[in-house]
Amino acid sequence: MVQYNKQYPIPRPDVNEDTIDYWKLLQETRQLHVQKCKNCGTYSHPPRPVCHQCRHYQLEWVPTSGKGTVYSFVIYYRSVHPGFEVPYGVVLVELVEGVRIISNMVDCKPEEIYIGMPVELVVDQVWEDLALPKFKRRNT
Ligand SMILES: [Zn+2]
Repeated sequence: MVQYNKQYPIPRPDVNEDTIDYWKLLQETRQLHVQKCKNCGTYSHPPRPVCHQCRHYQLEWVPTSGKGTVYSFVIYYRSVHPGFEVPYGVVLVELVEGVRIISNMVDCKPEEIYIGMPVELVVDQVWEDLALPKFKRRNT
């Protein structure tokens, strides 16, 4: 679980022409969307203009189940920014759709995280106009 030190505003994600739909869809639908290639069906994350599998340009946004497992994780004991209080865990979640996303857990201490942990999406409304995808434990 990452705690924020309110004295220091945490850095916002880079919202650009490739990622704006990703952030808007999370904010508006409260679901995590990823890109899917209209040509070969490959899922992609993070957002990009071209399919990494077949180089097709026509990608569509599709909602995910929000469910996955912890593929890997690290625990930070020294913060990279004064807005993040240590220790905190950073997880690499593999969604059931097969894409991986870097995030944080919201409901457990860093030492409770393990590889293979079933997790599900939580939309963390960090800013009024921008939410972050986080994860919590999931009962299987
Ligand atoms: Zn493709």
